[in-house]
Amino acid sequence: MATATATIDLNAIRQNWQKLRRLSSGDTAAVVKANAYGLGVKQVASALYNEGARIFFIATAEEGAELRSIVGKIPDIYIFSGHMTGDTDLIKNYSLIPLINSIEQLSRHCELSKEQKFGIQLDTGMNRLGMEPMEWETVKELTLSLNPVLIMSHLACADEPRHEMNAMQLQNFRRLTDKINVKKSLSATGGILLGPEYHFDLTRPGIGIYGCSPMQDCFSVLKIEIPVIQIREIGRGETVGYGNTWTAPSKRKIATISAGYADGLFRLLSTNTRLYFQDIGCPIVGRISMDLIGVDITSLDVEPEKLELINSQQTIDKIAGGAKTIGYEFLTSLGNRYHRNYKGLIE
Ligand SMILES: *Cc1c(COP(=O)(O)O)cnc(C)c1O
Repeated sequence: MATATATIDLNAIRQNWQKLRRLSSGDTAAVVKANAYGLGVKQVASALYNEGARIFFIATAEEGAELRSIVGKIPDIYIFSGHMTGDTDLIKNYSLIPLINSIEQLSRHCELSKEQKFGIQLDTGMNRLGMEPMEWETVKELTLSLNPVLIMSHLACADEPRHEMNAMQLQNFRRLTDKINVKKSLSATGGILLGPEYHFDLTRPGIGIYGCSPMQDCFSVLKIEIPVIQIREIGRGETVGYGNTWTAPSKRKIATISAGYADGLFRLLSTNTRLYFQDIGCPIVGRISMDLIGVDITSLDVEPEKLELINSQQTIDKIAGGAKTIGYEFLTSLGNRYHRNYKGLIE
């Protein structure tokens, strides 16, 4: 089989969530948007539910409907995008809790699904989602009379602990929610690490559950193994791959492995990334193709059947950094072609 394998360790996911839970002063939710950061919402959300998670956040009402069928009736499911036109039936039928972002959404919610729970999202400086302070002032009394179940905001620079934006947003959030007796939430993974004054009643970690930066000392969640299709010897001066971008400086042994940029292995990875056989790292040579990558395995004294992309020596963060991106983007770009194999699955 030429299909690459992504092994996802659900026990590691559960332990990472527990760790974030122990760090949080209030309740701890789980963010499982974008198919649980590409790792599989069905398996990941079930594992987290079994671990005790009862509050989930997702991006859209459609994701919420899917999640409801996975985790059952009990958990709270919040929608970051709020109440968009066309969402009303999903919100009602699947008991989703929209995080209202604007006065427009507030009127829509009051008009169409007043009896459904809702939360409020405030903008404290990121300028992405949420009511502006001025907007909030004009509808605060009315909104509070409708009994929102949560007031939240989101930090723009929480992965940089010394960034002045953090304290500024904290101050803004406090000012906007002063004397309001509603559950509050400000922090994702980065904010949890900033310390308890950022935690309020509920934290919303995502990336830390999946074992990536800014979370530290977490369990590694993913292993990727890629089959070797062919091995060849080439002489000095021969080239490998599209555009002849790599020329062999001497006699070399080249393995062609079965994955490429269609599997989220960006062309930018080429220079720093290694493919591992046990603890020996072999460099990528030539351009990454859609389905294939050339690897210089001259240093190996065996002909491997597969090579490993992610392990303790080459973490997701390290690979992502090599392609000038972040763990979030690497994970959510992995694509559908992997054989996804789950460790610790409870049927
Ligand atoms: C994605 C997201 C989270 C989770 O963030 P991580 O950095 O992955 O922990 C929390 N809150 C909001 C509003 C988000 O968009």
